Formats: sequence, C-alpha cells, structure tokens
Amino acid sequence: MRSVFREDHEMFRDQARRFVEREIEPHLEQWEKDGIVPKELWLKAGQAGLLCCCVPEEYGGPGGDYGHSAVMIEELARVNATAVGFTTHSEIVANYIVAYGTEEQKQQWLPGMVSGEIIGVLGLSEPGIGSDLRSMSTTIKRDGDHYVINGQKTFITNGGNADLVVTGGKLDSKDKHLSLVCVETSRAGFAKGKLLEKIGLKGQDTSELFFDDVRVPVDHRLGEENKGASYLFHQLAWERLIIAIRAAQCIESMLEETIQYVKDRKVFGKTVFDFQNTKFKLAEGKAQASMLRAFVDDCLKKVMAGELSPEEAAMAKLVGAEMQGKLLDEFLQLHGGYGFMSEYRVSRAWVDARVARIYGGTSEIMKEIISRKL
Ligand SMILES: Cc1cc2nc3c(=O)[nH]c(=O)nc-3n(C[C@H](O)[C@H](O)[C@H](O)COP(=O)(O)OP(=O)(O)OC[C@H]3O[C@@H](n4cnc5c(N)ncnc54)[C@H](O)[C@@H]3O)c2cc1C
Repeated sequence: MRSVFREDHEMFRDQARRFVEREIEPHLEQWEKDGIVPKELWLKAGQAGLLCCCVPEEYGGPGGDYGHSAVMIEELARVNATAVGFTTHSEIVANYIVAYGTEEQKQQWLPGMVSGEIIGVLGLSEPGIGSDLRSMSTTIKRDGDHYVINGQKTFITNGGNADLVVTGGKLDSKDKHLSLVCVETSRAGFAKGKLLEKIGLKGQDTSELFFDDVRVPVDHRLGEENKGASYLFHQLAWERLIIAIRAAQCIESMLEETIQYVKDRKVFGKTVFDFQNTKFKLAEGKAQASMLRAFVDDCLKKVMAGELSPEEAAMAKLVGAEMQGKLLDEFLQLHGGYGFMSEYRVSRAWVDARVARIYGGTSEIMKEIISRKL
C-alpha cells in the first residue's frame, strides 16, 4: 500500500474499481463512437457514491478528502476512461462551490451534483483566450438584483451534458478583475454549441457554450465580486495535480500492458521482450514512472495537508504530461502495427494523452510558473 493512502482509501478503491470495470470499461468504445457518455452513467455513479468525493455529508456527499479523489482519478485512468468527465465535475466544479459557495448555493446544487442529476462544468476558456485568462471578454453586468451575462466559451469539458456552469467574466469590460457566477443551462439566452470533433478524448462531450443576455440572480455569484482570479489561482494547483496523477497512473498501466504484449509477441523466433532494446526501453520506463509516482504522491500528501505550492503542482503537471507523451509513444512502438490499431488500448491512450500537455495550463505556462521562483 502506498504511504499516502489510508485503509479507507483502499477500500474505496475496491468499490471504484468494481464500478469502472462493470459500468465503464465495456462501454468506452461505444461512447467514443457516440462522442458522449450517457447521463445514466452519472446517475449510477452517484448512486454508487463515486461522485464529488470531497463534498461534506451535510450536502449529501461522501465527506471524503483528496485521497479519495485521487483514487477515483487513478481508477478511471487505469482503463484510460478519459472520456468520462467525472473529475471535472466532482473534483473541480464541486470543490469551487464547497470552497466559495454560500450556504444556499451549497444546498441548491451540491446534493444534485453528488447524485449525478446535475452535471457541472467549468467554463473559462474563450475562443480568443485560454492561457491568458485575465483577458477574458465575457461580461457579467449588474442590472438591479440580476447579472446579465454575454460571451462565448469554448473547449468546455462535459459541455454537451452540462446542467450547471461555473463561468467567469468581468463586471465591466474595461476591468482587469474576474468574477465567477453559477449559471443553470436551462436559463433563457444560454445555448450549447455542437460537440467539438477532436483527435482524441473522442467520447468526451467537449463543446462551446454561448451566453446571450443570460440573466441570473445576484445570489448566483460565486464568492465576492472581482475575486475570481484569486479563486482560480487557489484551485489551479489541485487541478494541475489531477493531470499529473492521471499521467502517473496511465504510464504505469500502459507499461504493464506493454510488458504483457512483448512477452507474448514472437518475432524472429523469440519474444519481443527478449530483445535488449525492448528490455532497456521498459527499464527506462519503469525507472521514470517510479520517480514520477514518488513526486506525485508527495504532492498528494501536501495537497491533503493544504501545503501544495503552485510551483510544485506545475512541476508535477509539466513532468507528468511530458513523460506520459514520450513513454506512451515508446510503448506504442513496441506494439508494432498493433499499436496503431484503435482496438489496442495503447493507441487510444497515446492520442488521448496529447492534450495533457495543453489543458489545465500548457507545458510552457508550467515552465513560466516554475521559473518565477528560480
Ligand atoms: C480537450 C480539452 C478540454 C478542455 N477543457 C476545458 C474546460 O473544461 N474548461 C475550460 O475553461 N477550458 C478547457 N480547455 C481549454 C484549455 O485549458 C486551453 O486550451 C489551454 O489553457 C490553452 O489555451 P489556448 O488553447 O487558448 O492556447 P493559447 O493560450 O492560445 O496558447 C497557444 C500557444 O502559445 C503558448 N503560450 C501562451 N502563453 C505563453 C507564454 N506566456 N509563454 C510561452 N508560451 C506561451 C502556449 O503554450 C501554446 O503553445 C480544454 C481544452 C481542451 C483541448
């Protein structure tokens, strides 16, 4: 057992793994064809107590901690279920509401998010900006006891299934400060764009969101006016660690699969594993994966203790995502032509992993963050 986890985390892992193997893994191929995961899956996951790990019991949640979140992220990554957007919903959007929501907001949305009836998304990126979030052009103008929202968001994970959007914008277009609001997708003036076609994460309903004079009561604001950027900054360390946790797990799972494959596959009268090149590639992979795991687990301990710094999270995300890209490419190579076939998990993991270097802040932005403290 890894020292970062307690016994209750490992018991939760058994439960999560059984669910993933029964309800998710057999359907991934179909969901990739559909470009979306059915809403029923969310309800089943809610019933099984697998959504919103950190939501306190008083709002219907399991009252867990980041350790439970990490277990769920790892179990999804183990089978490369990247299409299933539980993590954004459970470990990001719900956490924003827990951290900054009023009592009424928590009562209003968290129980439905825990049960899977309300699917949450974080809608920040716009067609004109992604890395530079402070340059957002969405406006959230005050009109009496309402806000009126205008703008467009893009690349939004779970956008197709979305019921509740935590979005950001400016109270005044000339403003530098961001504010966050919660918007139900049933509001007049709100529209979802088409599901975006992507090279990977094909089962993920990533989409555009449009706000055209969408009115929400002032009490839908999350936290204080103009404090949005500092909220984002606070949450980003954990969000980046999520990507590193996923990378570490994906590398380990694909390493195992590759070892199995090369030991079975015969070429020139011996197994592919018997070639020194294969053993060396796998040995390098094993060594690097072990180093990554040690650092990521250390970051996980720190986030659980409230001590993870933005630089450490950026290092974990940078190294994890880059390592994932490099190693999966080598694992795919060891599969020969079969590695290029969609039927083999390594091919899908390789293409899905490409986005890890882009979303949650690109590798270049991670280097910027790390270099600021040099
Ligand atoms: C599949 C997918 C899911 C996503 N899900 C969500 C979501 O749920 N919610 C959401 O809000 N967003 C989401 N995003 C958006 C994602 O966070 C952005 O794509 C990402 O932050 C990069 O922004 P951008 O695409 O605008 O690239 P840009 O910011 O335009 O960057 C272009 C290039 O310039 C480089 N660059 C930018 N600034 C610097 C700098 N200072 N120094 C050096 N190089 C720099 C970048 O590294 C990159 O190589 C998602 C994206 C994808 C692809």
